[in-house]
Amino acid sequence: MRMLFFLASLFAIKIADAQKNYVANLKQVEKIVQENSRFLNDGYKRLHEFPELSTKEINTAAFLKTTISSFGYSILDSLGYQSFAAVLKNGNGPVIMYRTDMDGLPVKEETTLPFASKAIGIKDNETFPVMHACGHDIHMSTWLGLAKVMAEMKNEWKGTIIFLAQSAEETAQGAKRIISSVNYKSLPKANYQLAVHDHAELQVGEVGFCDEYEMAAVDMINITIYGKGGHGAAPQKCIDPILLSAQYITEIQSIISRSLPPIESGVITVGAINGGTVGNVIPNQVVLKLTIRTFSQDSRNIIMKRLKEIGDNLARAAGLPETLLPKYDLLDMSIPSVYNNPELGKKLKDCFNKYMGTASVVKIKPMMIGEDFSVYGQQSDSIPSYILWMGTLTAERRAKSIQSNIEIPALHTSKFAPDYEQCIPQNVMMMSAAMLELFNNGGK
Ligand SMILES: [Zn+2]
Ligand SMILES: [Zn+2]
Repeated sequence: MRMLFFLASLFAIKIADAQKNYVANLKQVEKIVQENSRFLNDGYKRLHEFPELSTKEINTAAFLKTTISSFGYSILDSLGYQSFAAVLKNGNGPVIMYRTDMDGLPVKEETTLPFASKAIGIKDNETFPVMHACGHDIHMSTWLGLAKVMAEMKNEWKGTIIFLAQSAEETAQGAKRIISSVNYKSLPKANYQLAVHDHAELQVGEVGFCDEYEMAAVDMINITIYGKGGHGAAPQKCIDPILLSAQYITEIQSIISRSLPPIESGVITVGAINGGTVGNVIPNQVVLKLTIRTFSQDSRNIIMKRLKEIGDNLARAAGLPETLLPKYDLLDMSIPSVYNNPELGKKLKDCFNKYMGTASVVKIKPMMIGEDFSVYGQQSDSIPSYILWMGTLTAERRAKSIQSNIEIPALHTSKFAPDYEQCIPQNVMMMSAAMLELFNNGGK
């Protein structure tokens, strides 16, 4: 009995010690973040002012590379487009991969910030204004701040960190290129994979969790509906692809409601119809551009199969020969759905609860938008991955918007302006706490 008591008190002391260390660690994180706040803000402004389009993030990658190398990380290049990894090996322990994206969007910035972007990018020989309208500049600044903290706190953890900087998230090209690159395969296999995405409506300090499916698999398909063109006044001599397209668009709406099990989610959107020139000519063809969103592979298979069955059979019913059935072009832009590992989610939640209090952990519903962070999670089921939503709004701004009924500019809009001075240090502190926790208590 006495022995048991002795063991129990020893255990209690150990827990108290661990708790004390943990608090001391977080104080140290806070100190490092405070000391580097100027560097973080300046870096953010620079990244925000000079955004670059997907696959063209040359100066952005160069800036990140120079900065993170100066913290003692080794650079692994040639991961496709401008992507690279910065690695810190720090003894035996778990391997954690942490990813940022780097690309801006073809959006003309309409904020009144003194460092608003005036950048112009070129894509397919066309010029576009460019803006960090998805907040990837916040992700990069968080990534740099976290890299700095982990380098300075090397004595507090053991293992390997892979800080991944990824090109072309917005066009769903970057992650696929990375995982198929020879150099990426030379990196140690991660035990955990993490990323954050800013959230336009969450408050600074709030972290949004969505266990299991968080974002959708994305497919883009162009479908050519053929017909037999002729005079608009003699439809009996034609097969009208405009009428056929109208029937097709209406009919495929039944796939979600009639072909998918009712509890499964899916979206079929026809975003463009291109066909015909004038009112009195029936054209030869119409091109439809669709996006398909699903969570499960089964739903995706059902939708793809039904799109073809309906298209082929409507064309046959209209009298078209087998050689003029619709053409279905799946674009090379498909990405899988984002699946957040619930056990890893629990570890992160427990850590944030301990650090910030339960009020800061927010449950977010799944969305049908896409994120190619999913590609890393899908390469092997055995790597737990999680992408967190991070708040970007100060309490004052949120209160003001509610009081005055002012809409907060959403992601991908020209007025999106996160409260960077508050959210970047907060993100760095939270992710540093998460990393230290995973290295010290979660790597087993
Ligand atoms: Zn985006
Ligand atoms: Zn984004």
